[in-house]
Order: sequence, then structure tokens, then C-alpha cells
Amino acid sequence: MTHFGGTTSWVESVKSPEDVPGDNLLTRFLFARMPVNCSSCETRRAALRRPKTGHSVCKECFFHAFEEEVHHTIVSAKLFQPGEKVGIGASGGKDSTVLAHVLKVLNGRYNYGLELILISVDEGISGYRDDSLETVKRNQLQYELPLKIVSYRELYGWSMDQIVQQVGLKNNCTFCGVFRRQALDRGAIMLGVNKICTGHNADDIAETVLMNFLRGDIARLRRCTAITTRAAKAPSRAASP
Ligand SMILES: [Zn+2]
Repeated sequence: MTHFGGTTSWVESVKSPEDVPGDNLLTRFLFARMPVNCSSCETRRAALRRPKTGHSVCKECFFHAFEEEVHHTIVSAKLFQPGEKVGIGASGGKDSTVLAHVLKVLNGRYNYGLELILISVDEGISGYRDDSLETVKRNQLQYELPLKIVSYRELYGWSMDQIVQQVGLKNNCTFCGVFRRQALDRGAIMLGVNKICTGHNADDIAETVLMNFLRGDIARLRRCTAITTRAAKAPSRAASP
């Protein structure tokens, strides 16, 4: 304990960024480089500061808080019914990997009684999906979940490589985006899945909101932040918060 003229140094009394006196950028900068204790367990070192709450938390407490928040959303929004078959849209990216992990963990911990299955779409773009499909196959083994890969070739009779040969590179993203969403729905119907979950992060949602705002698309603006959507023939989708 360091004392200056009988009083404890404020540095030692600081437990969180909010305790830094004043709004001095230099002190905040220095604080950002100081090891901080987790505001939740108060024993381990904080590993990150959550933008959502402003709390500095350790890895373990962050995982716990994140899982409990997802569980709370699932329960309060009544996203699932016991016995349902739930497809997880698995791209091999970070968002869908987190989604697969958290649903597997919560389904076991809280006995949702769900039958989970990973669904991946293979667009048939040489060199593009190969790595991410390998990641999905690793997820399948790690989380012990069944995996179904639905390919454009299987669903539509052609691959994106063949589309590009016809329409050129210019408009192929439009084709691909529409077909990809539909492929997930068709795959789900083939598998008799009740609901599909897709993982999204806050940046994705912010981008969608901004895009619909700039377009002046009020209907989409209202829909795009809803956590579930329902298509006429397709199974309803549940998005992870
Ligand atoms: Zn902690």
C-alpha cells in the first residue's frame, strides 16, 4: 500500500474505469493499460470491457454472463418448444460457431429437449467454401452434432461457378445471397426441421438497420431487429441475440 501524506493513492482505490477521477484523457489512457480486476468475481484479472454494460470482466465471467443472457432471451421470447428439431445455420465463421456452441451447452444445461442439427450451404465456389466447410466439420465433431451440407448443385442443379460462367462476376453476389437463404430453408424442409437459427453479431444488425434507414425501407426497418421471422412455407427462424 503506497501512502502519500497519509492518504491512499487514488490509483490503488481504482477498481473500475468509472473510479478514475475527472474526465482526464491521460488518466483514462493510463488506466486502460493497468491490470484491472473482474467486476463480477473481483478475483481474476479482467480480460475485456463489455461495450454493452461497460463492465470489465474476466473470460470465465464473460462466458457465464453471455450464456445466461442467451438463455434468458430463449426463455422469455419462448423461442423453442420441447421436442423440436432445430437447424443451426453453420457457415464455419465465428458467429455460427458461437451459436452452435451456446445452443449445445444450453440445451444440455437447461434440458430444452431440442434435437439440434448443423446445416451448411455449399454454393459450389471453388476455393471459397473449402476452408469454412472444414471448420463446420470440426464443429460437428467437437459439439457432437449431426451435420447436413446442402449444395446448390443438389438443390438447383448448378453451382455458383457455373452461374458465374453465365452471368459474369458482376451480379453474382445478388444471385448468391438470395439462393443461399433459400437453400437453408429448403435444406431445413428436407430434414423436417421446425426452426432454423442463424448467428449474427451486433455490427451486422447495426449495418442492416443503417442500410434500411438509408433506403427509407420502414417495413424492413421494423422487421430487421425482430429476433424471429416466419416465412409462408419455410420453418421460422430464430436469431441468436
Ligand atoms: Zn470474473
